[in-house]
Amino acid sequence: MESSVRVRFAPSPTGYLHIGGARTALYNWLWARKHGGTFVLRLEDTDRERSTPQSVEAILQSMRWLGLDWDEGPEVGGPHGPYRQSEREELYREHAERLIASGHAYRCYCTREELDAARRAFEASGQKGAFRYPGTCRHRSDQPDRPFVVRLAAPEHGRVGWDDLVRGRVEYPAEEIQDVVLVRADGTPLYNFGCVVDDLTMGITLVARGDDHLINTPIQLLLYEALGAEPPRFAHLPMILAPSGEKLSKRHAAVSVLEYRDMGYLPEGVLNYLARIGWSYGDQEIFTVEQLVEKFDWSGVGRASGRYDAKKFRHVNAQHLRALPADELLRRAEPFFREAGFEVDPGDPAMLRMVELLKPRAETLRDLVDGADYVLRETPVFDEAAVAKFLKPDRAPLLRDLATMIRDVEPFEAAPLEERVRGWVEEEGLSLGKVAQPARVALTGRSRSPGLFDVMEVLGRERTLERLEAAARRAELREA
Ligand code: GLU
Repeated sequence: MESSVRVRFAPSPTGYLHIGGARTALYNWLWARKHGGTFVLRLEDTDRERSTPQSVEAILQSMRWLGLDWDEGPEVGGPHGPYRQSEREELYREHAERLIASGHAYRCYCTREELDAARRAFEASGQKGAFRYPGTCRHRSDQPDRPFVVRLAAPEHGRVGWDDLVRGRVEYPAEEIQDVVLVRADGTPLYNFGCVVDDLTMGITLVARGDDHLINTPIQLLLYEALGAEPPRFAHLPMILAPSGEKLSKRHAAVSVLEYRDMGYLPEGVLNYLARIGWSYGDQEIFTVEQLVEKFDWSGVGRASGRYDAKKFRHVNAQHLRALPADELLRRAEPFFREAGFEVDPGDPAMLRMVELLKPRAETLRDLVDGADYVLRETPVFDEAAVAKFLKPDRAPLLRDLATMIRDVEPFEAAPLEERVRGWVEEEGLSLGKVAQPARVALTGRSRSPGLFDVMEVLGRERTLERLEAAARRAELREA
């Protein structure tokens, strides 16, 4: 039997996909996948000024990159389309007519000037509270030939409430709800109305969204009631805040999903980290996507807002990166290698060995490329501070001796190399560090790298010897 779970993600295409929005999409997607249900993507693009095709593209691209595939929506279609609000005006008009006919909504002909005047009069009167629409048109029976908006006839008493899957029972006094505008004079719906008509006609069974929408839910519940329909269930998700507790914005961190892609994060790392802000399953931190699908439940979603933690994010990503086999990693890192000017062959055993070597130190695909830089270049890029500190003139003979010692090691691999060099330093009464640091700079240009003998193996005999000699010359030159 096909599952009856129908959830949706309904972004407004007015910018990039924010990681907060991505997490909302993720929770809905997980729920749908867990139950074999349907995940709908709907574009709430009725704000014509702010909605752009570029934003639609950025949202779809972000969703695709994350692997949050939708069963109904733009590009894939479905039985409840169209999936862009700008193409559904007929439906909003019909529903507005129904509400007017049943007395749950009314046409309001008040002009902006009239409303402004009423607001000023209210402010001048010194009454407490915020200005509310005085209900001027609520009981008028004529229909002048002038532009009108459609307003909700909100009830004057009672309470509106629901059992939220995250927050438990939530209730609002009905008198706090105003006669809000449902449809603008140009026929476009306002958020609450468009959202209810769509969720209703698309058969949505559960609405999960950010808790910044909590104040909208009572209005939406009134609309369901007015339309004689059963409302869906609701889950309001706590926000993702900056470490300081402020609203998370560009000032604190990268917030667009595509930025994470471009920084070399893995989609599974992003999904794992986002899932865990606001949701927990015991103290498990690392989840594959399949495990998230299996384990996700609303009961694990907390009420408290989560704080963005960049370090933890990288750590989670690193775990996913390390879990991938070298050839897969190389394939995924290919665009980054190419961008840095390197061609990679994901089948090349030397490359694969290099990736294995770099993996434990990389947190992102970019780290991998950065780590590979000295392997892929003809000569490494030297860090001047490392050169100054470790390639002193008196190290030149040491580097040459090291080259002599390892020249005939067979096979040229980390373990026999290490054995030979350790034996040698012991015999000579040297310290390994005294040799290893200059050698590291000689081979990589840096003072930090993976294990020296691994680096030698990856570079191979010829290049290792060449680099040691070149560095010895460089060290001598410093004397002049
Ligand atoms: N378009 C709304 C938003 O982006 C959707 C809210 C909802 O999910 O109902 O915030």
